[in-house]
Amino acid sequence: MLYTKVKLKDGSVVRAGIQANNTYAVCGECGKEIPIHLNEVFSADNADPLDADIVCPECTRKHFAKQKPSMEDIVLLATAICRLGYSKQILRLYDKFGISAIQELRTQDYGAYAEALLSAVSDRN
Ligand SMILES: [Zn+2]
Repeated sequence: MLYTKVKLKDGSVVRAGIQANNTYAVCGECGKEIPIHLNEVFSADNADPLDADIVCPECTRKHFAKQKPSMEDIVLLATAICRLGYSKQILRLYDKFGISAIQELRTQDYGAYAEALLSAVSDRN
């Protein structure tokens, strides 16, 4: 079993086992706690899984409400969601939108695709 070890002020040591469903990150914008699926984060193709810059779905939605997503935004969003461990959900969305790569997405579908990506993340919480 992997675990984290933290020494408290009183000198006692707390060990907490790292499991599939007990690891969290904090949104870089609002500070909300987001569950992270470590197994998938480490099996995904991440340059550095411990250095993921994480923004919660709500903050990302607010951002896209102000400014329509571009292909670059979609790619960044899909990459970020992959890093959070949702690669299977992203592949399912490819089928739903009838594409085999994000670049095949039509401009008019960008908004719907971004929303579908964010919903895939929210549903699993
Ligand atoms: Zn947030």
